Amino acid sequence: MRQSKLFTKTKREAPADEVAKNAQLLIRAGYIYKNMAGAYSFLPLGLRVVEKINNIIREEMNAIGGQELYLPSLQDPELWKKTDRWSDENVDVWFKSQLQAGGEIGFGWTHEEVVTDIMRQYVSSYKDLPFSVYQIQTKFRNEVRAKSGIMRTREFWMKDLYSFAATQAQHDEMYAAAAAAYEKIFNRIGIGQVTYKTFASGGAFSKFSHEYQTLAEAGEDVVYVCEEKGIAVNEEVLEQADLSELGVTREELEKRKSIEVGNIFSLGTKFSESIGLTYKDESGVSVPVIMGSYGIGPARSMGTVVDLLSDEKGIVWPESIAPFLVHLVGLNLEDSEVHDWADGIYNVFKDRGIEVLFDDRDVRPGEKFAESDLLGLPYRVVVSRKGKESGTFEVVNRKTGEVRTLTEDELYADFDGDSET
Ligand code: ATP
Ligand code: MG
Repeated sequence: MRQSKLFTKTKREAPADEVAKNAQLLIRAGYIYKNMAGAYSFLPLGLRVVEKINNIIREEMNAIGGQELYLPSLQDPELWKKTDRWSDENVDVWFKSQLQAGGEIGFGWTHEEVVTDIMRQYVSSYKDLPFSVYQIQTKFRNEVRAKSGIMRTREFWMKDLYSFAATQAQHDEMYAAAAAAYEKIFNRIGIGQVTYKTFASGGAFSKFSHEYQTLAEAGEDVVYVCEEKGIAVNEEVLEQADLSELGVTREELEKRKSIEVGNIFSLGTKFSESIGLTYKDESGVSVPVIMGSYGIGPARSMGTVVDLLSDEKGIVWPESIAPFLVHLVGLNLEDSEVHDWADGIYNVFKDRGIEVLFDDRDVRPGEKFAESDLLGLPYRVVVSRKGKESGTFEVVNRKTGEVRTLTEDELYADFDGDSET
């Protein structure tokens, strides 16, 4: 991508009403646009990041056998009445509307009901189980507060996986597989070190559920962590559960602010019983299906990365989710020899499948570097007249600040294969 063609521009300031650091940085760098409180547009750079996160999630969901599908946002009240989750008294985040033809509809804020209803058509025998399905889809929630930038919006992407099992053992196996997949996902997007699988209350069907809580001052949640033992519990568990059972004492737990980036939950037969999802066991007896649900917020995860990994100059993307790996910054481009040289390097990067953003604009070097720092791509490769004379490039690692001077061959060798440099 040539930066001269990119319609977004960096800005000195974020809108005055934007209080969250993640959104301030992402707006200034041109990744997102704030349409109103709780609703943001994802511009080309921002969408590239979300897509990378989504693809990591997809790979890990597919690896545990999840089958991707897509469910509608529009919701039939009759279905939700079966689980007693239609009324505004029971669920306070519904957005609802009227059909012109008469009757009410809702905008999906989660999809347990929908997916359970669908499976009634496809599950009849124990032989059909276990399996799991997932989607990455837009949810609508009438959140009271929307002050955390892209971490809490009223329209947001969620990856929601649902598991269906005949036996508790099958369910437990899928639950453990989902937990392992979540660990991989958060490691891959760069927040694994500070993300805790946190004990939360489990509802009627299991002792605990688990929230994936990332320690961060900007967080809206609170967790109690023992970093040494790698154990975290939420407030409810702290008050209600027997901590000794978890192998930790109250004194060992430190109160920290955190962001819930995901959660996994055993649903038991709550939804299958209310909606009538049953299978016939080996002796022909009709039994309700055991379910689980597993959520991740891709945009909330992106906001968490920005919040945690940025520095005073701007965003610092991990390679795994950066919109481009390389920021090729051209200086002295008014010199046609330098310009052609830079152009050639841009084309070699592209031909080799290395994702590169080429700053080919006629802008002062200081401004280019400041914008480059704000954008936060992992490697900055500087092409200049001076470099042309010596046949070398400056390569700057955004995260460590390390500067290396490489020849053209060294440069390509460096970014070849897996770009771990
Ligand atoms: P919270 O307690 O923060 O409101 P939740 O318990 O309502 O979260 P779930 O319903 O389990 O969250 O949703 C699954 C995941 O979707 C969450 O872990 C989070 O990553 C993401 N998510 C939830 N609400 C929002 C939102 N309003 N904006 C962006 N992401 C969200
Ligand atoms: Mg919520």
